[in-house]
Amino acid sequence: MSDCLFCAIAAGDIPSDRVHEDDDVVAFRDINPQAPTHILVIPRKHIGSAAELTPAQDGLWARLLHVAQQLAESEQLDERGYRLVTSVGVDGGQTVHHLHLHLLGGRALTWPPG
Ligand code: AMP
Ligand code: ZN
Repeated sequence: MSDCLFCAIAAGDIPSDRVHEDDDVVAFRDINPQAPTHILVIPRKHIGSAAELTPAQDGLWARLLHVAQQLAESEQLDERGYRLVTSVGVDGGQTVHHLHLHLLGGRALTWPPG
């Protein structure tokens, strides 16, 4: 999608602090971190949000989860735990309309979120 920030980041047209990339998935540090580790895991393909995932994309969704799991280990979050969040729409607080998983960790996170 031509005017999508995360498509541009995935393509390398806008710089980011990348921590993972493969044929399907890119991960980079959030520009406004809400925890000591705050990484965004995105598909290269433009998908607006989790609400737009189709059954044919089950494998891609699983890839996003597995990359997040690997990053949690490499960031040494796996022992204490972490949170995976994906925002959908206005009430979900979604500000970038390209599917992304937030990987948050490195501090005790509260519930419910704001
Ligand atoms: P959400 O509000 O759930 O849609 O998440 C969007 C996230 O993208 C926010 O946490 C922003 O801080 C983050 N963000 C926005 N622009 C950039 C950027 N250029 N590089 C990295 N993260 C960004
Ligand atoms: Zn996009």
